[in-house]
Amino acid sequence: MTDKPTVCVFCGSSSGKNDRFAVAADELGRGIARRGFRLLYGGGGYGLMGATACAARQENGEVLGIMPKFLRGQELPPDWKYDLVLTDTLQERKAQMLALADAFVVLPGGVGTMDEFFEILTEASLDRLPKPILLIDVDGYYAPLLAFLGHMVEQGMFRSDGLDFVQTVPTVDEALTQLDCLAAGPQTGLRAGE
Ligand code: AMP
Repeated sequence: MTDKPTVCVFCGSSSGKNDRFAVAADELGRGIARRGFRLLYGGGGYGLMGATACAARQENGEVLGIMPKFLRGQELPPDWKYDLVLTDTLQERKAQMLALADAFVVLPGGVGTMDEFFEILTEASLDRLPKPILLIDVDGYYAPLLAFLGHMVEQGMFRSDGLDFVQTVPTVDEALTQLDCLAAGPQTGLRAGE
């Protein structure tokens, strides 16, 4: 087990249409590596996933990808050389990521990213995942999601303090500042090797 705090990043396997998404992925990967944190992610080599991992590796950061075997041909370039754990299913991938992470950061993404986000939010709001969740709302990408979560609360479908389980920040800089605070605090959950 590594003694570095492990930051799990969920993000798109595509880059999307807004150039700021890839810039954010690059900044986040670099920021995580420069702090000496380990990057844990879904293992993909393309899109925002690939951009985050490549940026962290360029800063000599430790990167661990976890990916189901069936996605290997689809989401990895043939010459990909970074550490990869292969699982049988998407569910197994998520379970390993949840167990290994000390904190979660969500960048823009598609349904896969949402699946992962709702998994951690569900677990956290059932008090089964006492780990920080940061949502980076790059260029307002997640405004509709945040509005819908607020609507769930308003309509009595989600616990009234449900949104407190997610810290929404507008920029990567703010997310990294939050990670610094978490890493510095003794009772925050961002502790290495747990
Ligand atoms: P996405 O955010 O959809 O670009 O995908 C992020 C990661 O989740 C990629 O590794 C996708 O292959 C994976 N993924 C895609 N669709 C799903 C899904 N329905 N459930 C779980 N993971 C998915």
